[in-house]
Amino acid sequence: ALELNKVTKKYKRTDVISKMNLKVRNGEFLVLLGPSGCGKSTTLRMMAGLEKPSDGQILIDGKDAQKMTSYERNIAMVFQDYALYPNMTVYQNLEYALKVHKVRKNEREHRLKKIIATLDLAAYRDRLPGQLSGGQKQRVALGRGMAKKSRIFLLDEPLSNIDVQLREKARDEIQNLHEKNQQTIVYVTHDQLEAMALGDRIAIINEGKIQMIDTPDNIYNHPANLFVAKFVGTPQ
Ligand code: ATP
Ligand code: MG
Repeated sequence: ALELNKVTKKYKRTDVISKMNLKVRNGEFLVLLGPSGCGKSTTLRMMAGLEKPSDGQILIDGKDAQKMTSYERNIAMVFQDYALYPNMTVYQNLEYALKVHKVRKNEREHRLKKIIATLDLAAYRDRLPGQLSGGQKQRVALGRGMAKKSRIFLLDEPLSNIDVQLREKARDEIQNLHEKNQQTIVYVTHDQLEAMALGDRIAIINEGKIQMIDTPDNIYNHPANLFVAKFVGTPQ
């Protein structure tokens, strides 16, 4: 499991995340849903080990994530702002983590061929990120995360800039990877329909606190409070 144990994150003196407890089960697809600024990206960045909690602990299968190497943590992340390597081509961006993890050339080519086809990236494979549109960059960021086949996959609004037809294909592929590799997924979105369709459970966050965490059905039909009811649009 991936656990947050009373995690607080402060910027200056303000709590952005406040004593958050959360347990993501191995192989679970958890969606984080909440308004802009509620702390979704901050939560993911801490899970990925990119930011330290101000207080509390993050555990991966019972071990303190801070004390693990990134290799041991085995996490891939798709960033909201893509964070591609600017001096590498699309193909090199996709391939980089696989090289670091010593995935063999044949296997690298095999995985990337499929991802390039799914995300329709063939025409851009030799371009630099600076020569791509926002949506194209997002597809590379998503492909880079998928290629890694990590145990834990964190995705921050990975489809927000992708056209509808391709979005469905990409979404199916995220689900495929999750099922085939029993990947633990934490998926951030603003989109309630997407959250309902994808999540085994959904965590509704507001102002750095989890308001409710439950199945899509229970979130919609039995909202724990008024915020949840309003946010997911439960008929009153
Ligand atoms: P969005 O849906 O708009 O992406 P979010 O839920 O991902 O929002 P976060 O990016 O986690 O929100 O930000 C949570 C809060 O923390 C916001 O109020 C934001 O302004 C603040 N914040 C984030 N990063 C920093 C930082 N480096 N320094 C100061 N404040 C920050
Ligand atoms: Mg965000």
